[in-house]
Amino acid sequence: MVRPIPDNELRRMWEEFLTDYEYLPRLEAAADAYPDKRSFEIDASELQEYSMDFLEYLVENPDTVITAGQQILRDYYPPDTIPEGEDLNMRVVGIPKKEYVAIRDLRSKDIGHFISVEGLVNKVTEVRPKLLEGTFKCHSCGAYIRQRQEGTELRKPAKCYENQGGCGKQTYFTLIPNLAVFQDYQRIEIQEIPEGLRGGDQPARLPANLVDDLTGKISAGDRLVLHGILRSSPRKSGGQLTTTFDLLLEVNSFELERHDIDEFEPTPEDIERIHKEAKDPDLYKNLTQSISPTIKGYDEIKWAIVLQMFSGVTKVMDDGTRVRGDIHVLLFGDPGTAKSQMLRYAASLAPRGMYASGRSASAAGLTAAAVKDEFGEGRWTLEAGALVLADMGLAAIDELDKMDKNDRSSMHEAMEQQSITVNKAGINATLQSRCSILAAANPKFGRFIRKKELLEQLDIPAPLLSRFDLIFTIKDNPDVDRDRSIASHILIGHQRGEARLLEEMNMADGDVQRILSTSEEFKPHFEADFLKKYIAYAKKVIPLFTEEARKKLEDFYVNQRNPASAPSEEEDSLKAVFTARQMEGLIRLAEAAARARLSHRVEGIDADAAINLYTDYLKALGDLAFEATTAVPRSQVSRRLVIEGAIPGDDEEAISMQDIYDRAHSENEEVSMDEVRKILENMSQNGIVYEPKRGRYKRAAW
Ligand code: ADP
Ligand code: MG
Repeated sequence: MVRPIPDNELRRMWEEFLTDYEYLPRLEAAADAYPDKRSFEIDASELQEYSMDFLEYLVENPDTVITAGQQILRDYYPPDTIPEGEDLNMRVVGIPKKEYVAIRDLRSKDIGHFISVEGLVNKVTEVRPKLLEGTFKCHSCGAYIRQRQEGTELRKPAKCYENQGGCGKQTYFTLIPNLAVFQDYQRIEIQEIPEGLRGGDQPARLPANLVDDLTGKISAGDRLVLHGILRSSPRKSGGQLTTTFDLLLEVNSFELERHDIDEFEPTPEDIERIHKEAKDPDLYKNLTQSISPTIKGYDEIKWAIVLQMFSGVTKVMDDGTRVRGDIHVLLFGDPGTAKSQMLRYAASLAPRGMYASGRSASAAGLTAAAVKDEFGEGRWTLEAGALVLADMGLAAIDELDKMDKNDRSSMHEAMEQQSITVNKAGINATLQSRCSILAAANPKFGRFIRKKELLEQLDIPAPLLSRFDLIFTIKDNPDVDRDRSIASHILIGHQRGEARLLEEMNMADGDVQRILSTSEEFKPHFEADFLKKYIAYAKKVIPLFTEEARKKLEDFYVNQRNPASAPSEEEDSLKAVFTARQMEGLIRLAEAAARARLSHRVEGIDADAAINLYTDYLKALGDLAFEATTAVPRSQVSRRLVIEGAIPGDDEEAISMQDIYDRAHSENEEVSMDEVRKILENMSQNGIVYEPKRGRYKRAAW
């Protein structure tokens, strides 16, 4: 508790402060700009410099102190600027960072205090007028009675107030809308930033109210600091008020966090070490080993995750087209193959990482949604999902195959344009989702089935699949050597866990020492903090493609699509997988590989790194495709390819089933109408083909 300051003393201090720190001369300009600008900012660090007690008193009694300050301002408004009954909003800004509190640490002692909290905006309602003061007509005497409004329910006068010229009776009142005084009002909710969370914790949330000129400036996905007065209101349950209170922040001012300020600013010593590590011939190995070392194997996947963190270069072309630099990776595999583990690890390691499941219960799902619920008090609320909250970071999306309908339709935009548009009722918003996506999906039938086609087992629409730069398939087939090495790895991991506990408790004997020293491979080569700084630092590099690297990628692309030997049918079906879109993926991977070495040029070795990943990836796909296609007669496979080839692309005119049949039939006489119908049905169900007009078909845009 700070020493109470009497009212007259408070006024004197405000007057002195506003004079000494030259606020009064600025007041004139502020008043002139009214009502276009309606705020007057007070710098907290100056308040603190003026008097520590004064600032502390403000923090503990913000209502009294800010109201007193506002009254002083009123005394100094130049004549004919601000009308009677209106006011400039006094906003306290520049609270030092060390005063910020974490949402989860807010307690009842903070209620009524001026606090600062950092967060990520996950909900925003529409801006709507809110009644500030109502004028009511008395049914008994007809007098007009004013009543200030607070809270969410309409408050009528308790009686016909005599001091307003009324009759004093407790009677009926009717609101006169024309005489109502409104204020813009908006409600938001913030949640803790992921960096502040311990692994797996649910982020704590805090609703906040914005009024007047603060409204309409914040969007879902923003990172910011809110400064304001912490209020509490009784929680409602089934229309009844309860004795449990919810917290709410009445915002006085806010600061948007700028994206270009890096949270992981390396020190000069860090930078020296980063440059040294970048020259290590084992760099790639060291980086890869730093991803989920408790998981055995999967080196290509881990390497892909490393590249994803460094990411390619986002470019804007001359014609304004934006090409993403973010790399999207999909892990498609049998259950129990450590997919979720790797996703969680990547989310905790990547700057602005976010982990979410496609199965998530929230209305926003993975993308965003407009909902009308209790939070919005009857208004529309825009709720941001993981891809928006991970803007400028990495979104780890588990169980992608379980995502709901709303997400399915907005995922393309989120992955390619990296924004999400919501147009519903009063909400028209475009949210940014400039993040790389590391997703995992399980096969549709629980496990991979050898005799079914790959695409059929993946419950994700093909256009969405094509947005992934790399798709890894993980099969959990029994294999003596692999099983033994994984089992032993898991066991040693647990042994090491026990040994670490014993060591912490100072109970390390010879066995403990031996286990700890022989299981160093479980320790990430780079500790997480250093790796984050390394990545943030490397991402500032814009590597330029060299001719050598360009030529390598070009040749690889051409050779993949036009193999020297006659293509087998399974290779043929793979050609569809390798398109110009994958070329962009290769470029991104090569750029990321160059960044990892802090190289300002994308060189031959970077192109090779990208090509090697791709070759492994295509081979894995090829193996699966081979297993699948061998189950189906070859002639049938080729008929299928002919039919699929007869369907017009998205940029062509849609045609009828008969026309598709005619085209296919002219190429292969064995094609039947029945087959065409079946394939079209199947492709429509999977979202690969659609009917822009009834009975006319074409492919959905990839
Ligand atoms: P998924 O999400 O693929 O179904 P999980 O991530 O839930 O699988 O993994 C199941 C468990 O099996 C995890 O505890 C994981 O540590 C373990 N596990 C699976 N594969 C490996 C591996 N290669 N090395 C170490 N542990 C593994
Ligand atoms: Mg899982």
